Amino acid sequence: MPRNGAALSPRESMDFDVVIVGAGPAGLAAAIRLKQLAAANGRDVSVVVLEKGSEVGAHILSGAAIDPIGLDRLIPDWREKGAPLTTRVREDRFFVLGPAGDVRIPNALMPPLMSNHGNYIGSLGDLCRWLGERAAELEAEIYPGFAAVEYLCGETGGVEGVATGDMGLGRDGKPKEGFTRGMELRGKYTFIAEGARGSLAKQLIHRFDLARHCCPQKYGIGLKELWRVAPEKHRPGLVQHTSGWPLDDATGGGSFLYHYGDNLVAAGMVLHLNYENPYLSPYDEFQRWKTHAAIRPLFEGGKRIAYGSRALTEGGWQSIPELVFPGGALLGCAAGFMNVPRIKGSHNAILSGIHAAEAAFAAIAEGRSHDRLDAYEEAVYAGDIARDLKRVRNVKPMWSRFGTRAGFALAGADMWANTLIPGVGFGYTLRHRKPDSATLKKAGKSEPIAYPKPDGRLTFDKLTNLSFSGTNHEEDQPVHLVLADPHVPIAVNLPLYGEPARLYCPANVYEVVEDGEGRPRFQINAQNCVHCKTCDIKDPAENITWVPPEGGGGPNYSGM
Ligand SMILES: Cc1cc2nc3c(=O)[nH]c(=O)nc-3n(C[C@H](O)[C@H](O)[C@H](O)COP(=O)(O)OP(=O)(O)OC[C@H]3O[C@@H](n4cnc5c(N)ncnc54)[C@H](O)[C@@H]3O)c2cc1C
Ligand code: SF4
Repeated sequence: MPRNGAALSPRESMDFDVVIVGAGPAGLAAAIRLKQLAAANGRDVSVVVLEKGSEVGAHILSGAAIDPIGLDRLIPDWREKGAPLTTRVREDRFFVLGPAGDVRIPNALMPPLMSNHGNYIGSLGDLCRWLGERAAELEAEIYPGFAAVEYLCGETGGVEGVATGDMGLGRDGKPKEGFTRGMELRGKYTFIAEGARGSLAKQLIHRFDLARHCCPQKYGIGLKELWRVAPEKHRPGLVQHTSGWPLDDATGGGSFLYHYGDNLVAAGMVLHLNYENPYLSPYDEFQRWKTHAAIRPLFEGGKRIAYGSRALTEGGWQSIPELVFPGGALLGCAAGFMNVPRIKGSHNAILSGIHAAEAAFAAIAEGRSHDRLDAYEEAVYAGDIARDLKRVRNVKPMWSRFGTRAGFALAGADMWANTLIPGVGFGYTLRHRKPDSATLKKAGKSEPIAYPKPDGRLTFDKLTNLSFSGTNHEEDQPVHLVLADPHVPIAVNLPLYGEPARLYCPANVYEVVEDGEGRPRFQINAQNCVHCKTCDIKDPAENITWVPPEGGGGPNYSGM
């Protein structure tokens, strides 16, 4: 439902064959494959892609060490065509960090499916910009700066497209000068490719009960800085991961360092959102990790040039919802196709876009519309996405149950078994038990954590780093972090958990301040939001809903 009441004029409507929400790798791959099939078969298929970022790539944040399996299938000559993915992985290193030292795990002990051999390092945002150009060349219509805020249902209950948000509403929800009504984009099929925790995907999963047979989806928060390091420290093609310090055994996660391009290093941490301690701050853990004796020297003499954060899905195989509903499908990370131990999802996002496009093209050619694209789901389960996810299905549950150290060893054994007998392994599938919103312990039963102050050279405070994300929102617009009950943060979350939103939000959006009479007040600095979606996932009361703000707002990531 629109948030601005019913008194507005009707929206104009445009018709397409396929409407795609999200210009990430999944959505763009779908657009490209649809247009390739149309050209190869001498047919015209109209395709529109909506992107809430100010340009394609502006909201993309990834590692990224990329498995080219999807790209090879989508554009086999992507290398010759100049895709911005030129650094081939040359070396893989994995370290376990302790407070005072580090241990390298020999590559021979690592399960082969964790190897980055044959992968490429680059910016997924830049790759999406390039894919966007390829899609536009094929005459897909791409509209950056437009968020899809609502799905449209036909008379039979199937999805028949989406509506973009109104532009020019004030904070009070009333039209301001220059107000523009949103548009209805109607399609025979609608692809939801919004990435992890998509806002429409969340509504559609609920509406069509798509998750009734699967485990709860699990998530992580990824925090990333892009550094230009001193040339003598740059090792193009080096992929390095760590687990352990500064995270304790009960807190899952790890770091990545990818060397590529012009002395660039992508430095990041993924922290599993099933953590228990409400005093934990993922942002400050990330800052602390950089100070480890084995990590710090890399950054000396270097410069942080960008910062951002984004949630990622971690439930994998057991958490895949039904992928199709009447009139549409979930693609990429909106469906949860991330391979967690590999920290890779872009290859599966592209593969899912290809499968969905092929199913929709065949259906449209048969004169069908607004029905279920079962062929898409069948292709996912019969193909490389299922193969990729099935063999790592027990890794995340083992980490969650047995902690980082024992879980790491057991998951390693399980991955070896799945290498030897692919997709079967030891023969069992462990379940995810609860959603990440239900894992926090009460503040009174948890150990407070004292984080060191940032030094401004290697470690930074949130607001300083935020200025390196290019985040910008029109301030006079309705707040896009919607509280189901505005009393919960102070009346419930503060006494029970110390209001953890202050700590898990990587952009200083949430604060508890004092009102004029010295009472605590929950403040939402919505203009800082980097659209990571963590609050929508982790709030212990499930009281926060992230809805798209005015299109074009949010981060303006460059090279992320
Ligand atoms: C820190 C981190 C590190 C990672 N490292 C790697 C790696 O090294 N290798 C790898 O392969 N994968 C990695 N991943 C995962 C990878 O980034 C994802 O799997 C991939 O981006 C998923 O692609 P997608 O197209 O499904 O979604 P996304 O890439 O998230 O794209 C979704 C797009 O849809 C837009 N959108 C969302 N909602 C709307 C809406 N309602 N209206 C309009 N537009 C909308 C968004 O702005 C975005 O541009 C990493 C992820 C993170 C967070
Ligand atoms: S408000 Fe929510 S979505 Fe926005 S940056 Fe903070 S945690 Fe992420």
